[in-house]
Amino acid sequence: MLPASALPLLAAAALYVATPPAQDAPAEIDLTALAASVTAPVAVAPEQDLPQNVEVTVQRNDTLDRIFRSVGIDDATLAELRTLPDVRKALDILRPGDIIMFTHVDGVLQSLNRRISETLTLSVSRGEDGFAVEFIENPLEIEVAGARARIETSLFDAGRDAGMSAQTVLVLANEVFGWDVDFANDIQAGDEFSALYQRKFQDGAYVSDGRVLAAEFVNRGKTLRAVWFESADGAVKGYYTPDGKGMRKAFLRVPIDFARVSSGFNPKRRHPITGQVRAHRGIDFAAPTGTPIYAAGDGRIEFAGRKGGYGNAVVINHGKGITTLYAHMSRFGKASRSGRSVRQGQIIGYVGSTGASTGPHLHYEYRVKGVHKNPANIALPNTEIPSNYRAEFRSQAEVALAQLELANGAPGRRLADNR
Ligand SMILES: [Zn+2]
Repeated sequence: MLPASALPLLAAAALYVATPPAQDAPAEIDLTALAASVTAPVAVAPEQDLPQNVEVTVQRNDTLDRIFRSVGIDDATLAELRTLPDVRKALDILRPGDIIMFTHVDGVLQSLNRRISETLTLSVSRGEDGFAVEFIENPLEIEVAGARARIETSLFDAGRDAGMSAQTVLVLANEVFGWDVDFANDIQAGDEFSALYQRKFQDGAYVSDGRVLAAEFVNRGKTLRAVWFESADGAVKGYYTPDGKGMRKAFLRVPIDFARVSSGFNPKRRHPITGQVRAHRGIDFAAPTGTPIYAAGDGRIEFAGRKGGYGNAVVINHGKGITTLYAHMSRFGKASRSGRSVRQGQIIGYVGSTGASTGPHLHYEYRVKGVHKNPANIALPNTEIPSNYRAEFRSQAEVALAQLELANGAPGRRLADNR
């Protein structure tokens, strides 16, 4: 299916990460120096005269004033730093987990370093005439990796064993295949998936996985494929089928966080009840009380309140005679007021066990003109690549799919260590 002319290009594009992240070389031990230090100890200067390096990890609700005080640097220094060009902005945003490095001599600040973003570091150092400010770029090296996974026990285990991060697996489930595959109920042992995705490195060390560029999911023998497309002008972007149909559709298959659904995956045997449209004409998703429930599609809240055996229930009208119903909620989301419009994925309530329910679960119904339907069997209309972007889409998709094909040819191949 590959044009032969595309092959040399593919060979040139490094598909696999060949070198593991750099490791520190073992330090050489100089025995003569060691012996010298034992026989002739060097006088140690008084501790307060030596530069002290202090690394502070920002905690929730930390303030700069408090951090500076904890290091032993006075408010006047902080005030001085804040007057420096661009430093105030770069210092004032504190996120829990951020690291600030201080070097001071007896409370007199010598230098301060903090990472502002994944790619930029602020560096302030004391010079002859006050502080000098530098913004240092930390370039990311982005490599493209391919991996194929086979599900034995769970989606996440399979992804991890193939070298993918949990984040990449979540992207596959939520942003690429979430409209076609019921990840709560329909995943089974033997399902396979592959992904072509970016891996970010900095100074030779793995940082995180980046964008998923192409992916394949084989669910119960049915193969789905998708590619990421972003037009040069940025006007069109998203995941599309190889023939240019949007992966995002009008209705979510699982209107709840699939990872918290307990009844879903059984490696040995499919759950006999869940995932089926039962006599009571809904789909049940067993999940802990408090699990967020999402609007399956854009629409208007038609009802939010107590509704007999449904307990706390929400009905959304999506137009064209389509309504969805969500039952047994422990409580409602902020958006759940009659007449309000909601967007797909917005939280409309939380799992509970109100009404005629034996345990916490979401009971979900999908109706067309009042008639119950199994949303799994509904052909959902999807968006398409606009005609003026098709040529651009085709050339991008061809490269990505060909690279994915290479990833498929190396099942279970481990990439560079990413832990
Ligand atoms: Zn039910």
